[in-house]
Amino acid sequence: MSGSVTRQIVRIDEELCNGCGLCVTPCAEGAIEMVDGKARVLREELCDGAGFCLGVCPTGALTLETRQTVAFDHSMVERLAAERAPAYISQSCFRCHGSEETRALLPVRTKGQSLWVCTRCLPGLIHG
Ligand code: SF4
Repeated sequence: MSGSVTRQIVRIDEELCNGCGLCVTPCAEGAIEMVDGKARVLREELCDGAGFCLGVCPTGALTLETRQTVAFDHSMVERLAAERAPAYISQSCFRCHGSEETRALLPVRTKGQSLWVCTRCLPGLIHG
């Protein structure tokens, strides 16, 4: 592979992917797209390997691996983000229903579900 580097990148297990689409929004770089009902990283230069998508996957289809691939392209991420319409789906806290427009949300796994919780409700979730 010409111009390749060894780095961390998201791996999607197609067998485990149920096509729910929950991993698309957490990927701020727009690296994950749904194709024929499965999540895919079509342009590996858009995946920074941070793994914010991992926590929301209900099936464990997402993992990180270290392998040879193209370098992360921050300028391409910025260019594509500027071209995209601001069409993200706003998420809300599963406890207080507060919107991400007004507070920071974090992905959590609880009782077998992948959900978003705000920083105000997180202590209550941890301590009961
Ligand atoms: S969150 Fe997991 S199961 Fe859902 S589309 Fe993404 S990879 Fe597939």
